[in-house]
Amino acid sequence: MNMDAMPKLDVTGAICPRCGIGTLAPALVNETLRVGVNAVEVTTEANVCNYCAEHWFDPPAQAAIDAAIRRLRDGDTEHLTHRGEVYRAS
Ligand SMILES: [Zn+2]
Repeated sequence: MNMDAMPKLDVTGAICPRCGIGTLAPALVNETLRVGVNAVEVTTEANVCNYCAEHWFDPPAQAAIDAAIRRLRDGDTEHLTHRGEVYRAS
């Protein structure tokens, strides 16, 4: 899949569809994605609401997120960086 072929959506200044109050602006965000008991972190661009902080991903960002989830789900950790362990307290 060629991620560069997917159009980036310029929604800067648009009203947030979630809260209807804030406006969206691009920012780099760290997403932690759970896959079963494991997790993978992805830093990607998102359109972030300046009121409710909701993250909206355009197609290239969503594709990067989906690829990271797929990679961890498939056990293809060779191309991921091991950062630590996830614990549960109770
Ligand atoms: Zn919002």
